[in-house]
This record gives sequence, structure tokens and C-alpha cells, in this order.
Amino acid sequence: ASSTKSSLTIGLIPADGIGREVIPAARRVIEAALPSSVRLNFVDLEAGFELFQKTGVALPEETVRTCLDGGVDGAMFGSVSSPSHKVEGYSSPIVALRKKLDLYANVRPVASPAAALGKKIDMVIVRENTECLYIKSEKIEKNPDGTRTAYATRKISETASRRIATMAFNIAQKRAGLSNVLSVTDGLFREVCLDVWKNGNNGDFKKTVRMDEQLVDSMVYRLFREPEKFDVCVAPNLYGDIISDGAAALVGSLGVVASANVGDKFCIGEPVHGSAPDIAGKGIANPIASIRSASMLLSHLGWSAEAKKIDAAVDRVLLENPAQLTPDLGGKGTTEQVTQAVIRHL
Ligand code: ATP
Ligand code: MG
Repeated sequence: ASSTKSSLTIGLIPADGIGREVIPAARRVIEAALPSSVRLNFVDLEAGFELFQKTGVALPEETVRTCLDGGVDGAMFGSVSSPSHKVEGYSSPIVALRKKLDLYANVRPVASPAAALGKKIDMVIVRENTECLYIKSEKIEKNPDGTRTAYATRKISETASRRIATMAFNIAQKRAGLSNVLSVTDGLFREVCLDVWKNGNNGDFKKTVRMDEQLVDSMVYRLFREPEKFDVCVAPNLYGDIISDGAAALVGSLGVVASANVGDKFCIGEPVHGSAPDIAGKGIANPIASIRSASMLLSHLGWSAEAKKIDAAVDRVLLENPAQLTPDLGGKGTTEQVTQAVIRHL
């Protein structure tokens, strides 16, 4: 299926825990946001730790194939529970999906309408999604004195750095105005980012985007002191993970932070939060992170006007009545009530 203006097919991979509550909420918001003339289809796809426990498979071949072969235009992923100890034969299905579909960027907008926080925060963290310390290459050696030393290999390649930097500058260019791109000064990563800034897009990035670099420690410090100053931040995988979880705290809750896993051929919307076992099944998970992720997916698939409508509806819900929000934001509302409020504003 190709994404035309008359039909749209979206794969739904709720996976584990609150993913099963927030992905159906996102689905209903997509249905409400698209014009009724669009032939909208949803395809349920399986993955997850719970599936692994039942069947021994965390990511069925069928799920991968449907995404790879154009069976769906894009997909929404919920969350996987991470087992607290190593489970033989199990590895994370979302990590495998990112790899198999070559979704090399994790784009994480961190936004909050002014009144909710007193400061308007609106930045995008562009996290490298394929390498760094997450290649999980570790070893442990015994020293002559009997103590042990553990090592981890960190992989930063020129190719992966170049494509993530190019994506970040493209995002910054679209947001041009108060653009302030930060890149972490890690040798090759920094060199490639600077090169993309100077020479990429026929020299256009340099003309339209102001670039600033920051070491990760002072980046975290500045992010907490003056979050309103940041616009787009590009970082290798681990730094990007740390910076974006920290940024999530600034906007009130993990329950509102969205992301999109983006490659050249496919996109998967995914809330930043995990499966939240402490609140799963209670009907009080905040659906906003998933709803905003659905909006990112729609925008990626060419439905920007509808995506903007969703974002505006979410902002209104965040501002209109604090009591109707879910408990993570201090309210008494449920997943269902917040979803209905968003749909009402649509
Ligand atoms: P996992 O093993 O899946 O990562 P976790 O225990 O790390 O699970 P997270 O999902 O990362 O859980 O959540 C961390 C905290 O934030 C939990 O207390 C959880 O209840 C809360 N939280 C996360 N997402 C939401 C949400 N959508 N709505 C409300 N609270 C949330
Ligand atoms: Mg977690």
C-alpha cells in the first residue's frame, strides 16, 4: 500500500503493559482526525515480552514482513516490558525492529504549551538509533590481582553520524527562525556534524541554521536551567537517550513525550515511556505520548494538516482543566476521558 490522499494503512503493535491501553487510544484519535473520505485501515501486529512468554517468539517474522513489504504505510508501537534479569533467547523486539527496518533516527520532540509550565518548551532531540554503546559488545577480564575489569565497545561510524546529522539539520531548517543546533563534541561524530552543517544541502544548512556545540555534561545543566533556549539537539545514541529522558521530566511526565523511529523507507511512532507495569490494566495510563506519536507518524506520511490538528487538540486538553488529566500529571482523569477530550477538540 502506498500513502496516497485516498487511503492509509497503519500497523498497530501495542506489545506489552500500557501499550495495550494507549495504542487503541491513539487509533481512535487518528480515526477522528482524518477526513471521512479516506479509506483508513488498521492492521494488528504482534510483538512483545508477553508474546515471547507465550510463544517463545518476541518478534514474529510476519510483523517484520508486513512493515518491510508495504503491507502497511507506517506503524505505531506501544511499549515492551523489560525483564529484570537476562532471559535466555529473548531480546527486545523494538530494538530488532529498528534494526531490521533501518530506522536509524529516533526523533523526540519535547514540548509544553507555555501556561502549563510558565515557560514555553519546544525542542526536538534527534537521537542516533543504531550504534554507540547500544551495540552491546561487552567483555570482562580477570586482572593479575584477581579483581575484574569490564569493557564495553562504543561504535561511532562516519556513515551513521552523517545520516543522523543530515536529518537533524533538515529538521532544524524546517523550524528555522530561532534555530540552535547542538552537537556533542565526540571526535568523529562532531567532525561529521560540522561537515554536514558546512557543506550539506549545497551549503544551505549553514545559511539557515545557527549551530552551537555543547559537551553532554554542560548540555544537561543548560537544559535544566534554560530549556526554552533549545530548538533541535542531535546526539549519539546514549547521550540522546539520557538527554531526552531528562527533558521528559521538564514537561511534567514521561506520559506526554512522543517519538518517531525514522528511516529512509519506514516510520514507527512510539511513546518514549515503557510498559509501566505499576499502572498497567488500571485504565489510568496517559495516552498523550501515544497520541502525539500518532501525529508524528501522520505528519511523516504526508498528513501534516491532520497532525497539526491533533497537536492543537492535545495542547488544549493540557491547558483546559487540570483535573481531567491522568494522575501522572496530577489529575483524576482516565485514559478514556483524556482520549475523549482530545477527540472532542478535534
Ligand atoms: P519498562 O520496563 O517497560 O521500561 P518501567 O518500570 O521502566 O517499565 P516506564 O514505563 O519507563 O516503566 O515508566 C516509569 C514511570 O513512569 C512509572 O512509574 C510509570 O507508571 C510512569 N509512566 C510511564 N508512562 C506513563 C504513562 N503513559 N502514563 C502515566 N504514567 C506513566
Ligand atoms: Mg523504563
